[in-house]
Amino acid sequence: MRGRDVLNVQYRIAHARARLYQELADAFEAPLPDWLRKPGSDNPLTEALVTAARELESPACLRALNQLANAPAQDLTQLRAHHARLLVGPGLPLVSPYESWHKDAQMSGSTSQEVAQWYEAYGAEPPAGELPDHMCIELAFLAYLYRQEAFALENEQAEDAEIWRKQAQRFLRKHPARWIPQVGETLAKQAGVVFGPLGELLAAFLREEAGLSRRTGSTVKKHKGFPVLAQPEACGLCSFCVQVCTTRALYISESNTETNLMLSPARCTGCGACTKTCPDDLLMLDARQPDGVVALRTSPRAICPSCGNVHVSEAEIEAVVARLEATGSLRQSLMYCVDCKARQGAGSRK
Ligand code: SF4
Ligand code: SF4
Repeated sequence: MRGRDVLNVQYRIAHARARLYQELADAFEAPLPDWLRKPGSDNPLTEALVTAARELESPACLRALNQLANAPAQDLTQLRAHHARLLVGPGLPLVSPYESWHKDAQMSGSTSQEVAQWYEAYGAEPPAGELPDHMCIELAFLAYLYRQEAFALENEQAEDAEIWRKQAQRFLRKHPARWIPQVGETLAKQAGVVFGPLGELLAAFLREEAGLSRRTGSTVKKHKGFPVLAQPEACGLCSFCVQVCTTRALYISESNTETNLMLSPARCTGCGACTKTCPDDLLMLDARQPDGVVALRTSPRAICPSCGNVHVSEAEIEAVVARLEATGSLRQSLMYCVDCKARQGAGSRK
């Protein structure tokens, strides 16, 4: 192939990558592009994505796109509400779209600043009003880097083009490829007929791009498993496991009637810290990933026999009763809420 032909092929690939990253960024960003109303028929975006994926010879992407092509027509208002539940809130979304949340277990952590420095160093201006480590902004930044590569190739500046390509690959490996595929996989499993295949496409494309494809031998650390409770009824909801879980995969959720120990598998790194902390050795790691957020332990809230208010969970009371081997009046006194206990204590001192 002659020099000009090589540049043409490279240009087509850089251009295809830029389009695919940009379209993926747009597809996950509120208020959502109009084409999502008819993801299964005749939309120019799917056509563009198919062309791009073929250009990059990505069978996994093409498989995901075929699934998308089978999706029925959608009501855009409902789809927007669904998108909010998956990635935005209010309340806890299915999966967080922020890198900092996944890596630093908090919003706007050091990862967020690191990403912002990349944008600044390469002259990109992310939109105001959103954090720099949002999934769509990182994808749009990749699109920007590949557009710069394509532009350099169009102007026959092969050396400049190589610099842009290498920086795009570095950024991809350092940031998006380290966490967005997991977001994509969670969506693929739980996000329905539109965001499911889009999630699958996202995961497959980033993995292939970063050379992390399972097919070619993964460099991703093997996940050791997700916590399960050997005997749920023995768990006294002490929350020690919650306190050591740095990714907040484990958390307590409380309603007026119940206290739950919850697991969000999408956030679990399989580090095993929770299993080592449980004072009763009740937690162990299981390789099977639960389908979405699950309650590992559920206990009714206790009702104070004196004032009738709900207070701690029955599981917590039972755990204390068991530890103290409490019977009779001692057992009975543990059923009262803190205020009534204090009042009774004050009364008996008079
Ligand atoms: S293994 Fe346990 S501590 Fe580690 S991330 Fe998962 S739930 Fe949290
Ligand atoms: S699993 Fe163990 S550490 Fe976690 S709340 Fe239950 S008893 Fe406490």
